[in-house]
Formats: sequence, C-alpha cells, structure tokens
Amino acid sequence: MNIILMGPPGAGKGTQSEKILEYCSIPHISTGDMFREAIKNKTPLGLEAQNYITKGLLVPDEVTIGLVKERLSKDDCKNGYLLDGFPRTIPQAEALQVLAKEISRPVELVINIEADKDELVKRISGRRVCPQCGNSYHLQFKLPKTDGICDACGSELIQRKDDTIESLNVRLDAYENQTKPLIDFYANLGLCKSVNGLKSIPDVFNDIQKLLDEVK
Ligand code: ADP
Ligand code: AMP
Repeated sequence: MNIILMGPPGAGKGTQSEKILEYCSIPHISTGDMFREAIKNKTPLGLEAQNYITKGLLVPDEVTIGLVKERLSKDDCKNGYLLDGFPRTIPQAEALQVLAKEISRPVELVINIEADKDELVKRISGRRVCPQCGNSYHLQFKLPKTDGICDACGSELIQRKDDTIESLNVRLDAYENQTKPLIDFYANLGLCKSVNGLKSIPDVFNDIQKLLDEVK
C-alpha cells in the first residue's frame, strides 16, 4: 500500500503510524524523524535543518524533496510506503506525484487526521519522545509502563525542542498556510479521507483500519 498520513502537528500521525505498521508491514517514512536523526548525527543535512526545525519553520522544499527522493528509491519501497509528515507543501505534493510514478507506486490513500487547536496544544505540551527509537508518549494520554522510560527500548524519554508553545504557534501557522491546501489537492484526486483525531488512540486507529481495508 502507498499511503500518506496528514494532519496538524500533534494530531497523532506518529502514534497512528506505529499502529498502521503493526497492521501492514511497509516502510515508515517520517521526514521529521529523518531530520531529527540527521541533527543527532550532526550531518550537513542536520546542521541545515536544525535552525528551521527549532523555530517551527518548514525545512526548504528542495532539501526535503531531495531527502524523500533518495529514501523512496530504496528497495524496500518497492512494496509500498507510509509517508508521515510529507508532503507538507504543494510543491512537495507535486514532486511526490512524479517520484511515485517513477517507482510505479502511485499514492492510493491520504489519511487526514483532524484535531482542533486546544487539543493540539494539550497533546504537544504533554508529548514525551524516545530519542533512540522515536516512540512517542503523553504525560496524560499515553503513559509509558515505567515513568520517563521508553517501553520499547528502555531509553530515557525527552521533550522535543520544538514542542514549546512559541514553536507550536509557528508550526500551526505553517500548517494552515502551507499544508492545509493539500487536503483539496488530494480531494481533487479522489484520494483524501478524513478521520476524527479527537477520539481515543484505539478508536482513531479503528477508523483508519476501515480506510486501509477499503484499499487492501
Ligand atoms: P504527530 O506525529 O501528528 O505530531 P503524535 O503522534 O506525536 O503527533 O501525538 C502527539 C501527542 O499526542 C503524543 O504525546 C501522543 O501520545 C498523543 N496522542 C496521539 N493521539 C492521541 C489521541 N487520539 N488521544 C490523546 N492523545 C493522543
Ligand atoms: P514532525 O516530526 O513531522 O512534527 O516534523 C518536525 C519538523 O521537521 C517540522 O516542524 C519541520 O520543521 C520539519 N519537517 C518535517 N517534515 C517536513 C516537510 N515535509 N517539509 C518541511 N519541513 C518538514
């Protein structure tokens, strides 16, 4: 399956990706995770992306598209992909149409997770992530089994540097102005399906599962 997960920051894309991957084994391509890995390893890409990410701004299209192009050309994407956080702009979506055609894996489904600002603020401010494996938790809504420790790999959980209220406001603006137009872009192609992200984590997944079953 060739799937895109869309939605504002904090809507639950990473959380639902974990569940989707248990359900269908396809590579998970999160541009946010790829940038964070590059920052951790202090690569030239990481050094370039860091300034934008900390401020909550989008990384420039040419950099992001180059990264995804390289990733989609890897062998494992011959079986499909789950894109999480890409595309985020119209030029990225247009580039993806070309890249997907090149690998004969056209986008089949765009899942748009909806949530309002009050909920996003609550989710982002309580989010804790694993710096090792990227799993995400919440101080109220998704507690790890041991306080402050990742269930999957035992690492100490941290708060993301861009999960401040200042950065979140910039990210929400970027979402409204640059990413939200993609809903119409994919609706015009007959690919966009929305789910109510305000439900509980298992209930959101239930709705996503129904959409996946229609494509499978
Ligand atoms: P995104 O990848 O869209 O930025 P995440 O998946 O990291 O969002 O979720 C943001 C935060 O909200 C995390 O702390 C996560 O545990 C929590 N969360 C995700 N989905 C839900 C939900 N349906 N209900 C309550 N909390 C949620
Ligand atoms: P995320 O983990 O998806 O919340 O992404 C974290 C940050 O990485 C974003 O706020 C952006 O700065 C950057 N980023 C991730 N994906 C993209 C993208 N497709 N285009 C531009 N910037 C991105």
